[in-house]
Amino acid sequence: MSHVSRRELLFGSAALLGLTMNDWESFEKEVLSAYPAAEVGKVDQVADEVYFHQGNILQGHCNNGWVVFEDYVLVIDANFPSGALEVLPKIRALTDKPIRFAFDTHHHGDHAYGNQVWHDNGATPVAHTGVIEEMKKYETGYYGSTPGRWEDAAKTRPDVKASKLKPPSVIFPRELIFDDGKHRVELLHLGVAHTNGDAFAWLPKERIIFTGDVCVNGPYNYVGDGNVEKWIVTLEAARKLGARIVCPGHGPRDADTVLADQQKYFRTLRERVGALVKARKTAQQVRDSVEQISVEIKADSSIARYVGPSLNAQAEKVYTEMTGGKFPATQKSARAARQLHAHAHGHDLLYRV
Ligand SMILES: [Zn+2]
Repeated sequence: MSHVSRRELLFGSAALLGLTMNDWESFEKEVLSAYPAAEVGKVDQVADEVYFHQGNILQGHCNNGWVVFEDYVLVIDANFPSGALEVLPKIRALTDKPIRFAFDTHHHGDHAYGNQVWHDNGATPVAHTGVIEEMKKYETGYYGSTPGRWEDAAKTRPDVKASKLKPPSVIFPRELIFDDGKHRVELLHLGVAHTNGDAFAWLPKERIIFTGDVCVNGPYNYVGDGNVEKWIVTLEAARKLGARIVCPGHGPRDADTVLADQQKYFRTLRERVGALVKARKTAQQVRDSVEQISVEIKADSSIARYVGPSLNAQAEKVYTEMTGGKFPATQKSARAARQLHAHAHGHDLLYRV
């Protein structure tokens, strides 16, 4: 699809959502500036036989990693089918060892819908048990009930339509270790965060962590399926591992500071919303303060990059966790945020992931 027609499509959807072209343009600018094109799609060697690949968010792709063991390759995140098909030949170009395992950091489509592609190429999808529980909740079509997220995604993504859901069949309740004496990768569930089934890939020898969407590096935080309060605690546990390099779920890889920044962003948001709740502000008043919160967070250079149009939904989620209440007109704003998140993940705008 050409850039122009894509923009038209996006704006058409934005208008439906009641967003102005300005909102839309500022978001596109934020995404693009947070996501330098030169880094996207490059095979980035992080350590000996350890690789990172920054996915193109405008195609909905997540970041990938892979580790070349003595006898096999472990891939970190399955991506969408189209993302898997992009990364697969890049791995094949580096090694002819079999790709045996594809680790889903969580159940979202941009991290797990490519499982079938990896399976077709000899790999078994692996995940924390929570991924299966989340899939049972959201992938109702697969589990014999009404159409779920996969079927929604298939309406707008030809790559999803052409593939099928393949839930992980090697699952672990807390951790799973790959260790051939040379390389060691620990898959670790450290608590609820972005979802109820997040796990990290931790390489203790190289002190590299692949975080999935528990940690992103840019305005990509989607809070709809997780819990922000617990997320902060889970990030603390991840920080304690002592990573030197952080490979996030979206956005460029970075030093250990990105875990601290992501945590500080959520802490700041909870502080700001919490102060309003404590001052007995109404839901409407809290919602009306989101713009001011945005200005305050943007003034802090360590976390400014996390602010995007999903801030309203993030603030509402925090408010709901604190009070059980919702913002007024929540249906529209939550839907708008979901759609913007979908856009942040590069999907067309008619479904959520
Ligand atoms: Zn996600």
